[in-house]
Amino acid sequence: MGDKYTAVWVSHSSMGDFLKCPRLYYLHNMYKDKKTGHKITIVNPHMALGVAVHEVLESLGDYPAHERMKQDLRADFEEAWKKVSGKLGGFITDTEEQEFKERGIKMLENVQKDPKFLINKRIKLPRETMNPNFFLSEDHNIILNGLVDWIEYLPDDTLHIIDFKTGKKEESDSSLQLPIYLLLCNALQKRKVTKASYWYLESGNVVEKELPDAETAYRDVMDVALKVKEARKLAKRDGEDKVFICPKGAYDPITKEGGCFNCIPYEKILTGDESVEFVGTGGFNQDMYMVKK
Ligand code: SF4
Repeated sequence: MGDKYTAVWVSHSSMGDFLKCPRLYYLHNMYKDKKTGHKITIVNPHMALGVAVHEVLESLGDYPAHERMKQDLRADFEEAWKKVSGKLGGFITDTEEQEFKERGIKMLENVQKDPKFLINKRIKLPRETMNPNFFLSEDHNIILNGLVDWIEYLPDDTLHIIDFKTGKKEESDSSLQLPIYLLLCNALQKRKVTKASYWYLESGNVVEKELPDAETAYRDVMDVALKVKEARKLAKRDGEDKVFICPKGAYDPITKEGGCFNCIPYEKILTGDESVEFVGTGGFNQDMYMVKK
């Protein structure tokens, strides 16, 4: 039987880290600061923009469909921006912050002009304080969690999954994002998902994606989740430094050699590099840092 407290929790973000490199997974998802007991995270402008825009759009779902576009998205954005302003968003200069903020304002102006699915009925997956989640496997004690940005209810009683994109980079076809969303929807509600799209908010483009079938989605997600679980188990037995190794050679804080851009910012936090600044504690009790280049 699965047990929520001892289970391995996996998500699109943590499995994405693991697929890049197990050491990145360790640094971002497992490592805890010895003094605070908190995990660590790095703030940056792209993430700040994404967080603020998502907050505004997702909160529209709390209103009935016909009232959503009567909300003052600009005012909501100003409120959301306060939480990521300055160092909290990893902004080094006011000019940089202003540039990112303007991009967010433009995205919301585009949404106001053409709200697409936002004026249609939607459903939400059930959740308590944590993101929606379910046991991907009770036998293996693995829980899958994730937050689907928007789920449109279609007239034929099926569902359309929509993911808001605030970055310019297109999601790769091998991404586990849609398989994970499909599995979450199938596990946590009864209707069938028949459509999935990425909405690139800056260009306004909506790119419809082919949905994987449920078995393939389960197999692909489970395959990575089991590898994550196995690595954690080995790390418990042999030590984290033996399992979560950088294939490029460990980053050396003195020569500044080794590693790559994915982990170097985390390694700098661990070694107390002078480019690192603690900026606060996040909503899930992570220690947030900005790392200046
Ligand atoms: S620094 Fe090393 S472990 Fe981290 S992502 Fe790059 S190659 Fe992988």
